[in-house]
Amino acid sequence: MTPGAPDLTNEYDGPCAVCGAVVPAGTGALRHGPTGGWEVFHRDHVREPAPPARQDLPGWHRRRLMALDIATTGNRAAVDRILAAAVRVSDGTTYDWIMDPGSNLLSLAPGKSHGVTIARARAEGAPAPRALDELATVVADHLASREVLVVWFAPHVLATLHAELLRHGVPPLTGRLPHGVARSATRSSWTATPTATARAAAPSKRSPRGTASRTRGRVTRRPTPRPRSPWPR
Ligand SMILES: [Zn+2]
Repeated sequence: MTPGAPDLTNEYDGPCAVCGAVVPAGTGALRHGPTGGWEVFHRDHVREPAPPARQDLPGWHRRRLMALDIATTGNRAAVDRILAAAVRVSDGTTYDWIMDPGSNLLSLAPGKSHGVTIARARAEGAPAPRALDELATVVADHLASREVLVVWFAPHVLATLHAELLRHGVPPLTGRLPHGVARSATRSSWTATPTATARAAAPSKRSPRGTASRTRGRVTRRPTPRPRSPWPR
C-alpha cells in the first residue's frame, strides 16, 4: 500500500473489486474507487493508484499558453495600483511594462518583494493608461483566439487589472471580447489551467462593504450581492 496511507479495512462482507469473490468483514482493504465511492479488495488483489503511462497526448498544455503577472502596490483591487506587468507566451514572445501609476495613490509604500518601487515606476514607467491599454490588447487578443491564459493567484491579478483599466478610462477585458470573457474563453481552456481560480469573481464596481439603506430611521447594511462573474464556471 501507499506509504503513510491509513490501513482501512471493510466493516462488512463485500465483493472484491478485482475477483468478485466475497471479502469477509475485517479482512479486506478499502480504497477510493474511480467514482469516489469505496471499493473493497482482497489483500493480495488490491490495486494501488498509479499514474497512467507517459504518452504523447494532445491537450491544452500543447496550445499557445500565455502567462500574466503583475507587480502592485498591494493586494486590494479597489485601491492598489499596478506598477509593472509581464506577459510570457509559450512561443517565446515576451512583453514587459513598467507603468507610472500617476497621483492619488492610497498605497505609498508597497511592502512587496517584487522590487518595483513607486519612485522607479514614476521615473521609468510609461503612463499607466497607455501601458494598460497595450497590456489589455495583448491579453484580449490571446483570449479572443480561445487560447489558455495562465495566471497565478488569478482573483487578485484579474480583479486588479479590471479595476485599473476602469480607473484609467481604458476599456476592460470584458468590453474587448466579442462575447465577453466567458464565451470567448472556452470552458475547457479555463478549467484546464493550473489555476482554476481564473474563474474567480470579477471585481464589483460597487463598494465592497455593501449597501447601506435607511429604513424608518434605522440604517441597515446588507451585503453587496455577489457580482455576476464574467468568467465561466
Ligand atoms: Zn479478490
